[in-house]
Formats: sequence, structure tokens, C-alpha cells
Amino acid sequence: MPELPELEVARRSLASCAAGKKIAGVLVERERSIRTPREDGRAFAEGLAGRMVKDVERRGKALLFQLSGGAAVIFHYKLGALAACRGEPVLETDGVAWNFEGGSALEFTDMQLSEFHLAPVDRLEALPVLKSGLDPLSPGLTAKKLAHMLPPNKQLKAALMDALGGIGNNYSDEILWNARLSPFRKVSALSEKEMSELAKQIKSTLRESIKAGGEEEFRDARERHGRYREKVHRRAGQPCPRDGHKIEMVKKGRKTFWCPHCQV
Ligand SMILES: [Zn+2]
Repeated sequence: MPELPELEVARRSLASCAAGKKIAGVLVERERSIRTPREDGRAFAEGLAGRMVKDVERRGKALLFQLSGGAAVIFHYKLGALAACRGEPVLETDGVAWNFEGGSALEFTDMQLSEFHLAPVDRLEALPVLKSGLDPLSPGLTAKKLAHMLPPNKQLKAALMDALGGIGNNYSDEILWNARLSPFRKVSALSEKEMSELAKQIKSTLRESIKAGGEEEFRDARERHGRYREKVHRRAGQPCPRDGHKIEMVKKGRKTFWCPHCQV
């Protein structure tokens, strides 16, 4: 499932091929992905035709295509999708395709519960899909703010995933390894110094992955795979990159990976 770094990489690569282009026509084969207006591929296509893609923004885990004429499309990957730039018009798709004037296109395929919402910009805030809270990369996320946001009685991993949009199962493990904190520590047990290290590692872990193009299974709009190599996530039994001790895994609903030696 794409998390914040993959979404940010997707945003940049989609902007590089869609921004400034005018939509000539839209194909909708997978109508159930059109959530606003609900499963109405025709209204969605008509609503997009003739509009220019001004910019692509990220709001938490949703991508926001700003269109000319006061409209916007929100695309949410949910469990995953491939949103890819095409050098020529798409004449047939099993997903959704936007054909641009001049012959290029954007095609959305392999959609797993992915959603599109078309709405006037002044009604975007009413859409639940955009409710994401404070962005983990925002300068507003200070150690003090983080301490207020994390539920004190929860364990660190669950608290990070609950409180911060775009941090899921993968990057919560990575952040906690970087911060040398056990995923099972209670939030209330953190010292001020540990909280400030955590706030720092949230940003630097996410930035490191963005720089690497996201995790390896993810493909951006140019179909380039990510190159971020996880330190602990999905690495049970392998040596910790910091001290060589064995990485452990616990499964309680979701899988948690950590090094019991250096994460306390
Ligand atoms: Zn270790």
C-alpha cells in the first residue's frame, strides 16, 4: 500500500507529464472507481473534457489535480494502482485514461479500491477522502506538536499510524528503527529528548524514501521502480544494519519488524 513517500513521488512524476496539458477526452472502463459523481463515468468524462491540468498537489495520501475552471479531481490510490504517463493517446483501457490535446495521455490501471472524485474546488473540503490532518512533512510538526498528537496510552507504532496521515505499516517500522525506539513503547513513557528525536526521524525517514523514489514495489508515473531499501520492515531474520543482531517480527493483526537490541 503506498504511503506518504510513494504519494509524493507519484505527485512529482504526474505533475511532470500532466501539468499544463488540456484534457481532450476521458475513457472510463472501470466505473466503480468513480466515486464522485458516484459510478457515473459519463458525467466524470464530461466534467473533465476541455479542462487544463494546472497542477498536482498532495493532501495526505490523496492526490489533487487542480483543473482550470474551478474544478479538481482527487485520486486516492487506496491499496495501490499504476498511474502512468503515456506518450500516445490511449484508445482502450481496463481502468481510466485521460487523453491530452497533442497526443499524450495519463492512464490509471491495476486499481485496488482506488477512487476518483470530481468536485468544484470550493466543495473539496467536504469530501471525507481529503481529511488528512497535519502533514508529517509540514514545518508545523514539531516535537511539542507531536507529543500532543500521539495518544499517550498507545504503543508507539500504533500511535504513529493513527495520528499521522500517510504513515502506515512500512514507514512506522522504519521511523522507529531510525529513532532507536521500540514499537511497543508507550507514548507516555518517552522523554522529551526521545520525542524530539522521533519528530526528527519522521521527517528524515520520509525524505530519504522520497529521494529514493519510494519503496521497491512502487512505480511512479514514468514506471520507474522505487529504490528505497527498508532497514527492518519485511526483514525478519536478517541482520540489523546498525549492529548485526537479528531483526524480529511480531504479528498482531499487522506485522511489526524491529531490532530488540538497538530499539528500546
Ligand atoms: Zn539493531
